[in-house]
Amino acid sequence: MDFDDTPAERDWRRQCIEFLDGHAQRRRAEVDWSESVWARAASAEQHSAHVAACREWQRCKFDNGWAGLTWPTEFGGRGLSSHFAGIFAEEEAKFDVATGMSAQSIGMAGPTIIAHGTDDQKQRFLTPMLTGEHVWCQLFSEPGAGSDLAGLRTSGVVDGDEMVVNGQKVWTSSATDAAWGMLLVRTNPDVPKHRGITYLLVDMASPGIDIRPLKQITGRSEFNEVFLDDVRVPLDNVVGEIDKGWGPILTTLANERTGIATGVRAGIADIIALARRFGVADDPMIRQEMARLHEIAETMRFLGYRVRSAASRGESPGPESSVLKLAASRRLALQGDLVMSIMGAKAMLYDSDAEMNGFWHNYAFLMQWASRIGGGTEEVQRNIVGDNVLGLPREPRVDKGIAFRDIPS
Ligand SMILES: Cc1cc2nc3c(=O)[nH]c(=O)nc-3n(C[C@H](O)[C@H](O)[C@H](O)COP(=O)(O)OP(=O)(O)OC[C@H]3O[C@@H](n4cnc5c(N)ncnc54)[C@H](O)[C@@H]3O)c2cc1C
Repeated sequence: MDFDDTPAERDWRRQCIEFLDGHAQRRRAEVDWSESVWARAASAEQHSAHVAACREWQRCKFDNGWAGLTWPTEFGGRGLSSHFAGIFAEEEAKFDVATGMSAQSIGMAGPTIIAHGTDDQKQRFLTPMLTGEHVWCQLFSEPGAGSDLAGLRTSGVVDGDEMVVNGQKVWTSSATDAAWGMLLVRTNPDVPKHRGITYLLVDMASPGIDIRPLKQITGRSEFNEVFLDDVRVPLDNVVGEIDKGWGPILTTLANERTGIATGVRAGIADIIALARRFGVADDPMIRQEMARLHEIAETMRFLGYRVRSAASRGESPGPESSVLKLAASRRLALQGDLVMSIMGAKAMLYDSDAEMNGFWHNYAFLMQWASRIGGGTEEVQRNIVGDNVLGLPREPRVDKGIAFRDIPS
C-alpha cells in the first residue's frame, strides 16, 4: 500500500484544510485542559456546553456539505469513499472542535439503518443525525447481558401495530441527551438466544422510559440505567425483521469498535509537553515509554488504513476492528501509566490541586477503562480474533442450540 496521498487525495486534503481553516481554530501546541469537560471539576453546565458545541459543529459541517462524507447523497451525505472521510478526520483532529456526541448516531445507528433499515427509516432518521439535531444512545447492555449480549432479557411483545417493551438496560451512555435509542428486545424465548432478538428504534421521550444517571469514578455521569415499563414502540421502527435482530446488531457493534479505536487520538504532543513541564523529558525511561506510545499510535494508524481500505472496497468492518480496538486498549493502558510516571509524586494530588484540575488523572488514567471495556472488553476482542482471524478452536458454547427459556440463568 502506498501511504502517500495520490494527486486526488492531495487535492481533497487541501479542500478539507481550506474548510477547516475557514470555520474552526487550529489546536494550539500546548493546550490548557483545566476547564475542559474532562477535568475533575467539570460541572453539569460544562457538560451541556460540550453537547451544544458538538451539535453546533455538526450543524456547521452539514450546512457546508462536510457531514456524512461516506453516506449516500440522497440523505445529505457526499457518497465518497472512506479514504476521503479518513483524510478529513485526520485534518479535523488538528482543530479545536467538539465531536463526541455523534459517535452513536452517525457512527453506529446511521450505518445500521443504511445497511438494514427501510426506506421510511432512512428518510426519517438519517438527516437529523447529520445535522446534529438528534443525539442517539445505545440500549444494548443489561445487568445480566454485556459480553454475552445475546443473553438479554428485556422483552418485546407485539400488540397490534406496536411492540410493548419491559425491562432494564444499563451503562447507556448519553441517554439523558438522546432523542432516539437503538433498543434490543427478546421477542422469542423459544428459539436459541441469537435468533429471538429484535432491533428497535425508540423515541427516548416515550412514556414508560425512566433514565437514572450513574456516577462514575471520574465524578461525571455519562452513562445511565434505563428502565422500560410498558414502552410502546411502533412496528415501523423495527430494523430488519422481528426475531432477526442479530445481523443489524453485528453491524452496530463492528462500527462501534472501529469508532472507539479510531477515536483514540495520537496526543503524543500533549504527553511530550507534559513531560517537559515536569522536567522529565530527558529521562531515558520516560523517553522509552513515549517512544513505545508513539510506536503503537503509528501501528494503529496503519491498521486504520487497512480498515479504511476494506471499507472502500465495500466490505463492512470485520475482525480487523477487534484488532484495532485491542491496539487502542494497549495504547490507553500505556498512556495512563506514563502520565502517572511523568507527574511522579504529584500524581497523588487530585481535583483542583492536581495538574490541569485533574484532567490527566481523569482523561488519561481513570477514563482508560471506558474505551477498554465499552464496545466489548479486551478478553472478548481476543476471543473474536482467536475465532475469526487466527482460526483457533472456537470458544466452548454450552447454550448452543438450546431455546433461550431453557438456558439456566
Ligand atoms: C464507559 C462505558 C460506556 C458504555 N456505554 C454503553 C452504551 O452506551 N450502551 C450499552 O449498551 N452498553 C454500554 N456499555 C457497556 C459495555 O458494552 C459492557 O460493559 C461490556 O460489553 C462488558 O459487559 P459487562 O460490563 O456486563 O461485563 P461482563 O460481560 O460481565 O464481563 C465481566 C468480565 O468477564 C470477562 N468475560 C466475559 N465473558 C468472557 C468470555 N467469553 N471470555 C473471556 N472473558 C470474558 C470480561 O472481559 C470482563 O472482564 C458501556 C461500558 C462502559 C465501560
